[in-house]
Amino acid sequence: MWRQSEDTKWEAAPLPAKGSFALGEEAEVAMLRGGGCVLLARSPARVNGSPCLPLTVLGDRDEIRVGGREYYISTESCATVTEFVAGEKKVCCARCKAEVTGGERIALCPYCGSAHHEECWSYGPLCASCPQSTTGAGWRPN
Ligand SMILES: [Zn+2]
Ligand SMILES: [Zn+2]
Repeated sequence: MWRQSEDTKWEAAPLPAKGSFALGEEAEVAMLRGGGCVLLARSPARVNGSPCLPLTVLGDRDEIRVGGREYYISTESCATVTEFVAGEKKVCCARCKAEVTGGERIALCPYCGSAHHEECWSYGPLCASCPQSTTGAGWRPN
């Protein structure tokens, strides 16, 4: 998600996979099992410009205003980097097309799931197989 800092610059703050994320004292974003999140507001809050209920389901790029600060939800996630375990199926890197061998660190695209060597993933601005940004910050508020 994105949060506006005191000097009105936008900064990215990763949402946790589970649990909740505090929006100051006034509200928090609670992560739902199976994806998605809800806003739990303890003081009057606005979502996309309209006053919202104390419990509001949030979607991608929703704008939240609470406690004089602005936040944007972005569900864009970063790639998961894991150690590749060699199995029966041959896996090739989407970028350099070389076969991935056991023990190598690979990045899985959060959008299309294609495997890349860790360094091949960050080699270009986009995933080799789809338009997913490799930095996890392809979209930012204006
Ligand atoms: Zn590669
Ligand atoms: Zn992809």
